[in-house]
Amino acid sequence: MALEHIDSTTLDPANTIVVATGNMHKLTEIEAILSKVLPGTRFVALGQLGSFDDPEETGTMFLENALIKAEAAVAQTGFTAIADDSGLVVDALDGEPGVYSARYAGEHGNDAANNEKLLVKMDGVADADRTARFMSVVALVEPSGAVLSGTGACEGAIGHEGRGDHGFGYDPLFLPADTPGKTMAELTPDEKNAISHRFYALQDLAAQLVERGA
Ligand code: IMP
Repeated sequence: MALEHIDSTTLDPANTIVVATGNMHKLTEIEAILSKVLPGTRFVALGQLGSFDDPEETGTMFLENALIKAEAAVAQTGFTAIADDSGLVVDALDGEPGVYSARYAGEHGNDAANNEKLLVKMDGVADADRTARFMSVVALVEPSGAVLSGTGACEGAIGHEGRGDHGFGYDPLFLPADTPGKTMAELTPDEKNAISHRFYALQDLAAQLVERGA
């Protein structure tokens, strides 16, 4: 989906939040949850304001990378910004792939290779030890430097083979505890959004905005 360009001089800095993502689905999901606690706020994707270089995600924790992305967007635009960082944490692999989820097999975003590597690493691991969770951290950074963040997890287990056509990333191998017998990729987008790590992270952030008086 092409992003509609927005002239940043038409935006009110007091009521604008830039979402540091090129993914319109994330923008829609973030807007749906946060607009309830931030009425009157306009959410725009970073890419709608211009073409900006992605910062290097050098963090070793989800929060660090979410902050790197949100702080870069604030520096690039001057608006309050939100960014998320997420990944899969597998207990039997001491937390791998974690912050390296997107590039586990080397090349950034090669889902097929990442899933294949995960299956090989999990070869021989008994069902009871295949527990894992998707984690998401959402960071909101204001031009003043004020920071709020929300964390969310979706508990589950790693399957023995990929199933399902929805979603992305490790969804075909991940069996959410909330949907017995179904992989994340076998859920409809609405079913996934109701239990996803990003949903819980955004709810956590929304609760903190309410606590702060938004
Ligand atoms: P990002 O932080 O959204 O860029 O996600 C980093 C990586 O974590 C993705 O490339 C996926 O490999 C994995 N990941 C994050 N969220 C999900 C999800 O909802 N389903 C499957 N994989 C995910």
